[in-house]
Amino acid sequence: MISFQQVTKHYPGADQPALNNVSLEIGKGTIFGILGRSGAGKSTLLRCINRLESPGSGRVLIDGQDIAAFSPAALRQYRQQTGMVFQHFNLLHSRTVSQNIELALKIAGMDKVRRKQRVTELLQLVGLEDFAGSWPARLSGGQKQRVGIARALAANPGYLLCDEATSALDQETTCSVLDLLAEIHRKLNITIVLITHELMVVKRICHEVALLEQGVLQESGSLPQIMARP
Ligand code: ADP
Ligand code: ADP
Repeated sequence: MISFQQVTKHYPGADQPALNNVSLEIGKGTIFGILGRSGAGKSTLLRCINRLESPGSGRVLIDGQDIAAFSPAALRQYRQQTGMVFQHFNLLHSRTVSQNIELALKIAGMDKVRRKQRVTELLQLVGLEDFAGSWPARLSGGQKQRVGIARALAANPGYLLCDEATSALDQETTCSVLDLLAEIHRKLNITIVLITHELMVVKRICHEVALLEQGVLQESGSLPQIMARP
């Protein structure tokens, strides 16, 4: 479980905090959506989960442990457990699809033989078996994001953090990528945290949702609960 306890984050020079006293619990095994307009603090919140950002005050706990207290080695290990998917895919263009995925495995310390097997497994999982040798520039947006998802899953993480993962995609591709995430959730029993400015995304796959506005958590709960409120 991920637990935010009164987390406040104020960027230097900003008028108001990006996160303002946010307390939130993200249960294991859920697909948790964080919904809000641009500038609401979603990205900051997501980046606090894997310590790409650190709160000015308050704590972020993973299974009861304060991630601020992690040693460099523990943090490295923890980051392997929190795969991240990006809006603009962040693929390396000088490497093929399989090389992009394999690099993540290499960083995770996997030996070469196992890496090859794992890349094949991951490509099958995201439906890109036939694109192992392709260059990212040749792929559609949806295919690029499938590579991004495969790479994020490389080290078999317990958490998948998705930063506006479908915002650069058209509606139809968005739906197919979301359906892939739901399928991955079913197959791998992984916890997915996604941030988005689109209600449709939340409605399609999230079990729970938190609404952020100007750094303040407005409400959180199951989707039916939130939708039922005035
Ligand atoms: P969202 O993901 O919802 O668009 P962000 O977390 O990116 O929101 O940003 C929240 C607020 O913090 C915005 O006002 C944004 O301009 C500001 N912000 C984000 N990152 C930085 C930064 N590195 N330095 C200063 N301000 C930032
Ligand atoms: P996104 O596509 O995730 O919304 P942004 O354009 O908001 O990306 O931000 C891109 C990068 O710039 C992020 O690393 C964010 O932290 C940083 N950033 C966002 N707003 C500000 C700001 N007001 N001042 C400095 N850095 C910012």
